[in-house]
Amino acid sequence: MITRLVKADERSVAEAAALIRTGELVGFPTETVYGLGANALNEQAVRAIFAAKGRPADNPLIVHIAAWEELLPLCHPNKAAERLAEAFWPGPLTMILPKKDIVPTVVTAGLDSVAIRMPSHPVAHALIQESGCPIAAPSGNRSGRPSPTLASHMMEDMDGRIPMILDGGACDVGVESTVVSLTGPVAVVLRPGGITPEMLAAVLGEVHVADSVMRPLKEGEAAPSPGMKHKHYAPKAHMTLYEGRAEDVASRICAEYDALAATEKCLIFSASDHLALYGARQTADLGPDAWAAAHAIFAALRQADTDGVTRVFSESWPENGVGLAVMNRMARAAGFDIIQV
Ligand code: AMP
Ligand code: MG
Repeated sequence: MITRLVKADERSVAEAAALIRTGELVGFPTETVYGLGANALNEQAVRAIFAAKGRPADNPLIVHIAAWEELLPLCHPNKAAERLAEAFWPGPLTMILPKKDIVPTVVTAGLDSVAIRMPSHPVAHALIQESGCPIAAPSGNRSGRPSPTLASHMMEDMDGRIPMILDGGACDVGVESTVVSLTGPVAVVLRPGGITPEMLAAVLGEVHVADSVMRPLKEGEAAPSPGMKHKHYAPKAHMTLYEGRAEDVASRICAEYDALAATEKCLIFSASDHLALYGARQTADLGPDAWAAAHAIFAALRQADTDGVTRVFSESWPENGVGLAVMNRMARAAGFDIIQV
């Protein structure tokens, strides 16, 4: 199959919507990362998403809508959902709610809940609206690879597998949506993202963060969100995260880098402010703060692969605000190889 990479405009969005209506897959930009979309109500089309990604069938998809009314046939919303939608939709927030029968079980991997999001990106919004159906879309990477934040990333992973990718430039947030479960008495963050626990608490009063957000699942432990079970975002390189005071972290990283530099291709992920601490060693600048790091992390992981890097040494970011989302992705990319300095 030839994959067309097309600049997103009125005409290409109309073509992409026609493809979605006929059960085909389309790559499209959202404000979080690029998505791989199909008609969420077409079981065959949804199966094709799992096949194109190599995604395990037990990892459910997020269903994307363009207006609140489109949620009503899909699930049973509650007061918390209404308040969060009011505050954060359209935007990078996914809500887990009890599903209705119209949603094929392949979308929810057999769960009785469904994940729903209303994206704010104008191209995503237009595509959903013109398709005339809810769009199931996971991140547009091959399973296990870093999520795509540029159309070219999606092309790397999906060339030859899908008919079309809409190019809408770089994604704004850079990490996937916040996933919050609203099926119990208290809202629970299952995956941190651009809408932070602090922001959710400001609307709902009380919010929990699943503690498996920042640690690996224990042997035999049930995952509150199936995505937690799977290896994620991993670069080909062995990656290690270092936590501690910036100067201590830098001197530890420098020592380990120097010990391996003769035999390994090493790279350091650093905040802009700390670059000078690494002298002439190879660094990737992840920007001045956690928002910048969220924007940069997946592209940096992909670049490391492209450059043949075999060892990544990374600084850590404080786990508050969007820093929790950055550290969640980094910890998984590092396979939870985290060192306290
Ligand atoms: P992705 O589409 O690649 O951004 O991944 C979607 C994430 O949402 C995965 O981590 C899923 O496990 C999670 N998810 C989707 N549906 C549900 C659900 N019904 N219950 C819990 N987590 C879900
Ligand atoms: Mg994903």
